[in-house]
Amino acid sequence: MANEDIFKKIIAHCKEYGFIFPGSEIYDGLGAVYDYGQNGAELKNNIRQYWWKAMVQMNENIVGLDAAIFMHPKTWEASGHVSAFHDPLIDNKDSKKRYRADQLIEDHLQKIEDKIEKEVEKAAGRFGQDFNEQHFRETSPRVTENMKKYEELKSRYILASENEDLNEIRQIIIDNNIVCPISGTANWTDVRQFNLMFSTQLGSVSEEANTIYLRPETAQGIFVNFLNVQKTGRMKIPFGIAQTGKAFRNEIVARQWIMRMREFEQMEMQYFIRPGTEMEWYEYWKEKRMKWHKALGMGDDKYRFHDHDKLAHYANAAADIEFRFPIGFKEVEGIHSRTDFDLGNHEKFSGKKMQYFDPDTNETYTPYVIETSIGLDRMFFSVIANGYAEEKVEREGSAKEERVVLKLPPALAPVKLAVLPLTRKDGLPDKAREIMDRLKFDFNCQYEEKDSIGRRYRRQDAIGTPFCITIDHQSLEDNTVTIRYRDSMEQDRVPIEQLPKIMEEKVSMKKLLELL
Ligand code: ATP
Repeated sequence: MANEDIFKKIIAHCKEYGFIFPGSEIYDGLGAVYDYGQNGAELKNNIRQYWWKAMVQMNENIVGLDAAIFMHPKTWEASGHVSAFHDPLIDNKDSKKRYRADQLIEDHLQKIEDKIEKEVEKAAGRFGQDFNEQHFRETSPRVTENMKKYEELKSRYILASENEDLNEIRQIIIDNNIVCPISGTANWTDVRQFNLMFSTQLGSVSEEANTIYLRPETAQGIFVNFLNVQKTGRMKIPFGIAQTGKAFRNEIVARQWIMRMREFEQMEMQYFIRPGTEMEWYEYWKEKRMKWHKALGMGDDKYRFHDHDKLAHYANAAADIEFRFPIGFKEVEGIHSRTDFDLGNHEKFSGKKMQYFDPDTNETYTPYVIETSIGLDRMFFSVIANGYAEEKVEREGSAKEERVVLKLPPALAPVKLAVLPLTRKDGLPDKAREIMDRLKFDFNCQYEEKDSIGRRYRRQDAIGTPFCITIDHQSLEDNTVTIRYRDSMEQDRVPIEQLPKIMEEKVSMKKLLELL
């Protein structure tokens, strides 16, 4: 199946099974805004909890925070967002479609790269075992020509971005004959900068009201509270402050479902360190964050690092962790070395000292910061996309059929186990309720008695429930039940007594955290 098709199926599946709905759907939706349904909210909570526990509970020197979305307007002057948080926008005059100029160029670069890789792949097939890839890359005229094109375009683009030279960005688009995918023409407007922050008014009387912004990142809530937390928590450097919460960006082109939303959730941690130690800690957090992703068991080959060529206004080193989505490798998390940019600027703009006295070295300094910043919604997308599978199976007890199953990591699954009486008669529902009442304190359970057992299994597969407990007539005699596994569809008969221990073993987050 083409990747685009899988992507569409995942979106439809998430809607059908209560994971994600278009926002305000009865009014035909609102651009790039989504609501999480009953199963989506559970999955999202579990991802958030996995992150929070890994950060705050597992690290003695990291503490949590829950700062307000609204912040003093000066915050965003100090952080550079008023002057520098914008994307270059360009319109095609024929289709009237709007694009991010930088993305048009990056997509074009990707196309050249794809061409090169295709050429190499073809040659590898042709030459078989004798293929010398390096030699081929250095000598094939088609590859070297495209490589040259790629390098020239890339350095021209990086220079133009660094200088924020909008005319040059436009010229690059024209010179490379980059056309609008809708109209097919290169009839472009000028490139303009577009600030991504949403603004609103604070206060009831319009003359008195102040323009304030909805935060475009959660990080600034941490920076302005740096001293509050450090002093009240008696924190010693190095230490971290972690926070999860909503962020808002008026994205120019919001597409690809929950990949690029206008309201989304971030999970950020700022790690405060001694200046001069930033490269060490940057590498440390890159590795530690990659380990967190890989512990989910979704496949090590699904992840890669991407080092930034163009650094944000606050960073001196930055890398993304990318995940292989059905729509290609995309960023899920950024690790940034932010120097003392933020604390230093808040000190300037607020007039309040943002410094730390280090008892180990007897020095006073403005700490440097390593940031880890992950999008909860993109993480959600990666978990769902990785788990989605269509399989041909022998229907338990009947003919062949297709099942759609979400193979989610059990610790993240919205429902951990379904409790299913085989029939609605003979006291089986009562026995099932007894089991529910025992397990529901520790695990999110679902009770279902309607429809055939096969159909109930399918419904649970579709929402990713890792275990189904079936209560049959034998259960009444010997207090055993069957436990049916989502992925293998195999069944074991086990004593009811042992269920809590078995479930704990299989679905607890502890197992994940132990891998970190
Ligand atoms: P991109 O380059 O994709 O626009 P970014 O580099 O601007 O992302 P950061 O500012 O580093 O993103 O934000 C940290 C994380 O927040 C990203 O890794 C991503 O997971 C998430 N994120 C950023 N923008 C959005 C958005 N519009 N919708 C959903 N998640 C987002």
